[in-house]
Order: sequence, then structure tokens, then C-alpha cells
Amino acid sequence: MLYRPFQVFLIVCASIATAPACADRTALTQSPAPAAEASATQAPKTTPFDGERAFEHVRAQVGFGPRPAGSAALEKTREYLIRELKSYGLKVTIDSFTPKTPKGRVGMKNVIAELPGETAATILICSHYDTKEFKDFVFLGANDSGSSTGAVLEIARVMAAAGPRKFTYQFVFFDGEEAFCEEWSECLDGLDNTYGSRHMVERLRAEKKLETIKAMILLDMVGDKDLTIPREDSSSQWLVEAIWSTATELGYRKEFPSRRFMIGDDDHMPFLRAGIPAVDVIDFEYGDGPGDNSYWHTAEDTLDKISARSLKIVGDVILLSLSKIEAQIR
Ligand SMILES: [Zn+2]
Repeated sequence: MLYRPFQVFLIVCASIATAPACADRTALTQSPAPAAEASATQAPKTTPFDGERAFEHVRAQVGFGPRPAGSAALEKTREYLIRELKSYGLKVTIDSFTPKTPKGRVGMKNVIAELPGETAATILICSHYDTKEFKDFVFLGANDSGSSTGAVLEIARVMAAAGPRKFTYQFVFFDGEEAFCEEWSECLDGLDNTYGSRHMVERLRAEKKLETIKAMILLDMVGDKDLTIPREDSSSQWLVEAIWSTATELGYRKEFPSRRFMIGDDDHMPFLRAGIPAVDVIDFEYGDGPGDNSYWHTAEDTLDKISARSLKIVGDVILLSLSKIEAQIR
């Protein structure tokens, strides 16, 4: 991801010291945790999500090198995803499409693994798996998009091992999230991005299956060692509440602070525009300290900037929020 970082940061964290949006970060770093939170921290609920395993998925992706849409390295990444997902016992579908891009037609493939439930009503857990193409430096995308891809893989493993739930789950890996042009909205009247998620929504519409999708959870940039994921304002707020309240209960209020920000655009937006509830879980402060996003889309987005601990926190929070989300779907 993403889109106009400086605007986002002016809104979110113009001043750490004075902006109300950033007040709880200050409070959390300076004040002792309330008693309830402290006890939750001492005895956090956990899941079989293995942060080290998710981290190894990130290492494997980084090992393939830069992975832009249409590249041989992305094909290798896709083969890795398919191999892993099948090894969990999941049915894997490859959805191929060839959108018009600023580089002409580019072959892309969404990877979708399904865990059938008691009903056809479906919840999506998603990440993009391409990386942005840069000609003047080697962009490895450990965080963007290695981290979320590794986390969704590990969530898929844990859920497949646990067996069917009431809802059907699909683990979706989008191709072509990143823009080919340097800026997110610079080309194709703003449509040079989110190729995979837009394609999936159009396919669901054509197959008259949009109504079967009850919720879409998007992970993006979730591996930063200094994990900070504020509530995203374009997201469906009942999904935000389910996830962030779960994080608070688990003692992760620092990593999932209550302050809000607006990301602008990401793979959740095509689903929202189609009337499907969706949430973007994204840490857009990927840099050297609070409010700094200087590692994003640079040669600095490397394995040493992310951690198994952050991946584990995100995995646990998402997995333990699912029962709250399911309870609100009729
Ligand atoms: Zn990106």
C-alpha cells in the first residue's frame, strides 16, 4: 500500500504532543496501565497462531526478491502460497485475469483458499501479495506485502486445523494491489491500483454472489516491530469495534490504539463500495519512531524491520475477534 502518506500523516499525527488523535499513545507510554489492562497483559488469551512460522513465510517471500505483478518472482511466490494452503487441507482456486494497466495488459492471479462452513455465508480474510515495482532500487517488501501475506497464511493454517465453523471462510491473496505508475492515482483515471480486489468484486457481482460475502477483513503492513494500528475510518465501524475491543481485552491497546485515521484507499474499498462490510487493519507508521513512515516503499522495507511478535499479536487479535464478528452477522 498506499496513498498520499503526507496527507494522511498531517491528519493523524500533525503533532504528537498536542493532537487529540495521538493522545492515547502519549498516555500509554507515560502512565501505568489500568488494573484491568495489566491483568489482561499478564494472562493474555492466545491461539495456536505461530509468529515464528508467519515470520518464516515472510522470509521465504523476501527470498524470491521483488515481486511485482506479472513477474517471475511473483509466480514463485504464488506457487509457494498454493503449496502451503493445500498442505493445510484447503481447497485452492486461482482466479486469472488480464487487466489493462499503464504497461499494457498484465496477467494477474488472485489466490483463494476456502474453508467450508455450515453455511455458504462467507467471511474473507485478505492480503495483497504483490510488491510495488521500483526501477532504481531493490524493493523487498518484507512488510508491504510480505507480513500480511505471511499472517493470512498462518491464520489459514490455524483455522483449517481447528475445522469448520458456522461461516465459510476464504483466505484471499490479491494480485496487483500496487500501482504501476509511481503515484497511487496518477494513471488510468485513478484505477492503476487494487486490480485484484476490484476484479474479485466484479466476479462476485457477475456470479450474483456478492450477497454471500458477509464481511471482509484486510491485513496490510502488519509486521512492523513497533506495531501501531489505529482504527481506520473508512472501514465498517462494527468490524473495527469487534477487532479493537478484542485487542484491548488481550492487552494490546498500545498496538491497537483507539485513535483514528483515514487511509484513503486500499483493497477493502472495492468491497465497501459494493455494500460489503470491510475493515482495513494497517500500520501506516512504518519507520524510525512514532509518526514516521520512512521505511514504506523504500529499500528499507527489509526483514530486520519486522518481528514474529507483531505477526503473532495481529494473528491472535484477528482469530479471537472472529466469534464477535460472526455473532453480529444475521
Ligand atoms: Zn505498498
